Amino acid sequence: MRTGKLHSIETMGLVDGPGIRTVFFLQGCPLKCQYCHNPDSQSFMGSNEITVEDVVQTARRYREYYQVTGGGVTFSGGEPLMQGAFLVEALAALKAEGISTCIDTSGYGQSHYYEAIFKLTDHLLVDIKHTRNDAHKVLTGRDMTGIRHFIKALRSFEGTITIRHVMVPGSTDRPEIMAELLAMIEPIQKKVDKIDILPYHKAGVEKYSQLNLSYTFESVPEMSPERAAEFERSINEALRASKERAAEVTVIEGNGYQLSA
Ligand code: SF4
Repeated sequence: MRTGKLHSIETMGLVDGPGIRTVFFLQGCPLKCQYCHNPDSQSFMGSNEITVEDVVQTARRYREYYQVTGGGVTFSGGEPLMQGAFLVEALAALKAEGISTCIDTSGYGQSHYYEAIFKLTDHLLVDIKHTRNDAHKVLTGRDMTGIRHFIKALRSFEGTITIRHVMVPGSTDRPEIMAELLAMIEPIQKKVDKIDILPYHKAGVEKYSQLNLSYTFESVPEMSPERAAEFERSINEALRASKERAAEVTVIEGNGYQLSA
């Protein structure tokens, strides 16, 4: 049976998808976000292995919690989409058990598996790190080619999507960045249930010294949770308005009228 590279498991996760979830954090990530809270999950080397059967057996133990809360299993990371073959088998085995599936991703994966993965996934958490190519590269070590390609691929995804953005003060805490974020997701907005704006914080920074790594965000202040909540409220209002406008256009077009008439 196929195995995956595992970083850790959280059995009763409350923040990685709907309801109570068992979260499998897979090992290895192609990004190197300067604020990453799990720098030990980035390397593709030297991890524990987990089989698809282990995933299913673990999930079965929490089935009642999923049923009561609308939860299920989430694959996070690291970057779960970098383990496409394992993910496809694990998702298929969970769906065969009637267990809801969710993936938390930054959109940098093995794209030839996307189509198969999308068919087996109910919910996606899509982390958008930045809206500007140069800043994205500085923040994550990669330009935006991967996330742009992923958003295009999401046009064929039929589940629901939550967008997540870690807001960094002095970098993305600006209305124009929020407008760019909305524009980026416009082609898939119909499937987006909400946008979570997560305030940058420094919890977990001690991991860097434990791993003998330098923390380049040392001088960046934490984001005020209240300000982040304010940005979150306004971007979700703008998202709702944009979806309503798009729905009106669809109705008008469906009735055979010209928009410009
Ligand atoms: S995508 Fe996630 S796991 Fe990967 S480096 Fe960024 S924060 Fe860390």
